[in-house]
Amino acid sequence: MRIGMGYDVHRLVEGRPLHLGGIQIDHHLGLLGHSDADVAIHALCDALLGAAALRDIGFHFPDSDPKYKGIDSRELLRNVARLLDRNGYTIGNCDITICAEQPKINPHIPAMTGQLAQCLNCHPSQISIKATTTETLGFTGRQEGIAAYAVALINEKN
Ligand code: MG
Repeated sequence: MRIGMGYDVHRLVEGRPLHLGGIQIDHHLGLLGHSDADVAIHALCDALLGAAALRDIGFHFPDSDPKYKGIDSRELLRNVARLLDRNGYTIGNCDITICAEQPKINPHIPAMTGQLAQCLNCHPSQISIKATTTETLGFTGRQEGIAAYAVALINEKN
């Protein structure tokens, strides 16, 4: 059994759709990035890659590569799942915390969990997504950005 952690931040700006946890959420601000900037998926990718000691998301999918411009982060997560599989690992469970003042994340969690489980080809019960505000403190509290933390357990295939 191996453990990994991931952390990511993206800036909230006007004029971008909000992609979070593999779904699109109706909101007046969206996350800025080279890809769709899905901060929750990026943190999860890094947790999974970290558990397997397979570097990080920027190593595998560099934001200098035009191939990844505007890419759906679910595609990156599917690639990470394939990478783990090829390296002899199965996914145990993942736990993600999203820090956002707005919008309210909780109503969207079942849909997000379903999307991530599909990408990882695992059962939704292996994925936990939690949401918190930072009580209006810091950049997440000022709604300048959204942060996400993730941990993942993986197992070596026998
Ligand atoms: Mg990112």
